[in-house]
Amino acid sequence: MKRRALVTGGAGFLGSHLCERLLAEGMEVIAMDNLLTGDLANIAGLFGREGFTFVKQDVTQFIHVPGPLHYILHFASPASPIDYQKLPIQTLKVGSLGTHKALGLAKEKGARFLLASTSECYGDPLVHPQPETYWGNVNPVGPRGVYDEAKRFAEAMTMAYRRFHGLETRIVRIFNTYGPRMRLKDGRVLPAFMSQGLRGEPLTVFGDGSQTRSFCFVDDLIEGIFRLLMSDEPEPVNIGNPSELTILEFAEKVRALTGGKSEIVFKPLPTDDPKVRQPDISKARKVLGWEPAVDLDEGLERTLDYFRRKVLEVEPRP
Ligand code: UDP
Repeated sequence: MKRRALVTGGAGFLGSHLCERLLAEGMEVIAMDNLLTGDLANIAGLFGREGFTFVKQDVTQFIHVPGPLHYILHFASPASPIDYQKLPIQTLKVGSLGTHKALGLAKEKGARFLLASTSECYGDPLVHPQPETYWGNVNPVGPRGVYDEAKRFAEAMTMAYRRFHGLETRIVRIFNTYGPRMRLKDGRVLPAFMSQGLRGEPLTVFGDGSQTRSFCFVDDLIEGIFRLLMSDEPEPVNIGNPSELTILEFAEKVRALTGGKSEIVFKPLPTDDPKVRQPDISKARKVLGWEPAVDLDEGLERTLDYFRRKVLEVEPRP
């Protein structure tokens, strides 16, 4: 019998890449999405593929999926700072109620459950780089609290289902990831800089640009997640690219790549914007034998064409 997987958030940036990967592994895949921040265009190429089904549903409501399920990958959530600040209640609900529903379904089906968690669990970190053993520095009542606390709750809930119900669970802490299918206007730094650079508009650096991030190409991330799903590691694992740079350096890189005509302008730093972020991936290296293979220059090259096309299209969402 073919293995069957449910991907919540299956029409999102990461969810859609994941669906594609699971299909390539010979699984049947059900993508579930309420299309709040997901987009059917991301999975347009999967319709008509054998073994692929799409269900438009909100995972915070009762979920019914007929037939067996072997894997549930819970990727539904707004995930960019702009999105989750625009959708604070939905973000809290999908991380809490949605995770509970997805776990309940996994228990019912005897499926292995993988939670998409985040480096935001570390908040504005006081330990650098961040190992999985770090408990974080999160402001629960700040604008990022809705995402950070929802994901921290989701991790706690996942571990409770493991401990109390004996469910097989995996938790991936995802660091900044980029690649084709990111929304042009999701507010994240890469789509912002790419579209500004391609249009010859000023690149908007928040703060003085000295804050750091470490960007992982989407194919590398999906490989790490797939390995984690197939492993027997129950504790959280960081997946990300440890090569760190400042946002100002990043702006200069994207500017050069997109034609070099844009100036760089400085805007106020958003509240609680983490000053540093870099994954410690020792555990992923050891337990999964995984590390990223695509460096930033190559990954940006591979993402540029997608954004070129996007910039030419009329963006359907404000
Ligand atoms: N950022 C920026 N200009 C933008 C968008 C974001 O300088 O137009 C900065 C933002 O303040 C943060 C970093 O880029 O320090 C990464 O932001 P993003 O929204 O991509 O995700 P985060 O890592 O903060 O979750």
